[in-house]
Amino acid sequence: MLMAGGFSIVFWIASALCFLAYGLQVAQDPTVSKDNLWLAIILIGVVVLTALFAYYQEAKSTNIMAGFKDMVPQQAVVLRDGKRVEMVAEKLVVGDIVYLKGGDKIPADLRLLECHGCKVDNSSLTGESEAQPRGVECTHENPLETKNLGFYSTTCLEGAASGIVINTGDRTVIGRIASLASRVGNQKTPIALEIEHFVQIISGLAVFVGGVFFIISLAMGYSALNAVIFCIGIVVAYVPEGLLCTVTVCLSLTAVRMAKKNCLVKNLEAVETLGSTSVICSDKTGTLTQNRMTVAHMWFDKIIHNADTTEDCTGEMFDQSSPSWSALGRIATLCNRAEFIGGQEEVPISKKTVNGDASEAALLKFTEQIYGNVIEIRQRNKKVFEIPFNSSNKYQVSIHIPEDPAEKGYLLVMKGAPERILDRCSTIMIGGQEWPLDDELKDHFQQAYMNLGSLGERVLGFCQLLLPCSAYGPGYPFDADSGNFPLNDLCFVGLISMIDPPRSTVPDAVMKCRSSGIKVIMVTGDHPITAKAIAKSVGIISPNSETVEDIAQRLGVPIESVNPRDACAAVVNGGELLEMSSDEMDDILKHHQEIVFARTSPQQKLLIVEGCQRLGSIVAVTGDGVNDSPALKKADIGIAMGIAGSDAAKHTADMILLDDNFASIVTGVEEGRLIFDNLKKSISYTVTKNIPEMIPFMIYVIISCPLPLGTITILFIELGTDIIPSIALAYEKAENDIMLRKPRNPRKDRLVNMELLCYSYFHIGKTEQKNLLEEKLSP
Ligand code: ADP
Ligand code: MG
Repeated sequence: MLMAGGFSIVFWIASALCFLAYGLQVAQDPTVSKDNLWLAIILIGVVVLTALFAYYQEAKSTNIMAGFKDMVPQQAVVLRDGKRVEMVAEKLVVGDIVYLKGGDKIPADLRLLECHGCKVDNSSLTGESEAQPRGVECTHENPLETKNLGFYSTTCLEGAASGIVINTGDRTVIGRIASLASRVGNQKTPIALEIEHFVQIISGLAVFVGGVFFIISLAMGYSALNAVIFCIGIVVAYVPEGLLCTVTVCLSLTAVRMAKKNCLVKNLEAVETLGSTSVICSDKTGTLTQNRMTVAHMWFDKIIHNADTTEDCTGEMFDQSSPSWSALGRIATLCNRAEFIGGQEEVPISKKTVNGDASEAALLKFTEQIYGNVIEIRQRNKKVFEIPFNSSNKYQVSIHIPEDPAEKGYLLVMKGAPERILDRCSTIMIGGQEWPLDDELKDHFQQAYMNLGSLGERVLGFCQLLLPCSAYGPGYPFDADSGNFPLNDLCFVGLISMIDPPRSTVPDAVMKCRSSGIKVIMVTGDHPITAKAIAKSVGIISPNSETVEDIAQRLGVPIESVNPRDACAAVVNGGELLEMSSDEMDDILKHHQEIVFARTSPQQKLLIVEGCQRLGSIVAVTGDGVNDSPALKKADIGIAMGIAGSDAAKHTADMILLDDNFASIVTGVEEGRLIFDNLKKSISYTVTKNIPEMIPFMIYVIISCPLPLGTITILFIELGTDIIPSIALAYEKAENDIMLRKPRNPRKDRLVNMELLCYSYFHIGKTEQKNLLEEKLSP
């Protein structure tokens, strides 16, 4: 294939012509020199050599990309020796019991044993794009239709499940399909397409110029044979054989360099797209913050209590005698899916590794610190039903049989975003007693919530309800779909808030983005107050910018009378997005420099990305959860977290941040910009050097000055100069101002354009430099 495309065709034709010319010459005069024969052979040699080199390079870059895949191996949680352990999914064997949660890629074919609101995405297997509910009953003869199987490489979207491994590796359903179907060819990247197009133009031009020379030499009285040879000389001098190969090599070299800086790209195209990024929509938790949550405060009995946040737990203990605390602690213990990974008995609690999301891990460590063996408490209060957390509802419910026989009936416990929890409550617990939730108590709640939120803490609300055994007898069939149990008129118990300190490298990185003309937008599921506090601490909202609300407060006027244009920053609640028209949304995105979107649902994250793209931005989105997958897919470049990211996010993303650190994105952008700049230089070099190669021919043909460069010599020069120096050029160091420029607009600023060609040929493209200057001077 490599020997048939693009430039090679031109070479094949040329060598055929040489053979023909030699044949004709021999027929006329058997003693003629073998020049043309040699030329023909060398032409073929060049085609073969370039093809071999290109093949070698492409194989190498494919290997590099394949090697990257092994750097983020899939993990699975498995029951081994009675303990849940985490291990590489490849080591699973038939009979293993595997635990799944929302966001996991299913590590093998599973027969499900237990399901809690579990839904899977089977689209890669069956093409069904809707989430498919899973259960434990066999519902169909056909394995692809029945609900009690989970298939390897599909994703668990929400809920939780456990299952027994029935097939692994090539014996799984997808494995068998994959080995039947031939491997899907690599998709061409836009940059490769652009180069290919350029190659066609240049080849066309070469043939055209060759043709013109052919006619001129005929007109000047050379024999047809000689004219053909001239023509070939021109064509050979004109064609940049090594170009495509150069681009691939440069992109993969850069990919390697980026991987060393913790940006792992999944396709080569991403390298270049990253360089043109003009908006980054960043997740808060884990990317801007450390994702190491620790319980810091609680609010119950109308008072904020401090938790012990010291590393070795020597700090002061809060008052645990209140019955409200007993209730709150119990909910935090029971309504929690996180567990310690097995085999860490010696490790202090605060350092233990937890299997589960960061907030739940914080609560688990906190309760373990106070009660001791949390897992045992959970076993004594058997869980009969649960609705796992999901980002649209932002709550989690479970129902237990309480260990205290005095409490007759089931205990429903719930935690989630405080305002959503409060909406479902009609009473509140104070001093162990239930009180009607009146406006005064709601004010108290709001005060405490704002206080904790403005510290940048993630606040969770907790509530409970005892389901009387008269209505909910033993074995009552709780069912989430029919909703045959109450989720309203609950009793609010309290708040627990967690600190998640910002990463120290983020403020610098945000500054750097800003000076490179990249807008950083925070998109989070957290409460606006918390989001704003964190945004301020990492510089996404600068210290002296104000939101409309801030201005209104400072001037003591109603919010409506403030001109939104006066506010540099904006904190937008995700809920507002639903009622907004696309014009209003564009208005916000255009006129505010510093934007934070809070309390967003997965669908709203998608709306935000679309909004930015509508305004012509190249959008990078970072995310970790399943809830981020749609936005990651929609983004021009989706960036998943390597450590905290779910399998689903890693699967859809184009790039993976191995250290979960926002600052690494900026390094990646720098590399991406560099590659574009250097490729431009390398192309202009490749194209310009054709001129000195062609001029001797022109002179020879027109004024019959002796030919200093034969076609064969030119071929060798081409072979030597096209590939190696152009790669070297592409690998050159960045100019100092590379991160001070505005991001490139790939829709307008092509890699190969007329301006560049003119610049290469005649050095008249000074406009580029002028634009650059203007850009720098403009505010
Ligand atoms: P993000 O994209 O920022 O991670 P999410 O959409 O996951 O945001 O939702 C975050 C909000 O949901 C938090 O502010 C919190 O109120 C609530 N929340 C997060 N995790 C849990 C959980 N395990 N149980 C209950 N509520 C949670
Ligand atoms: Mg999340």
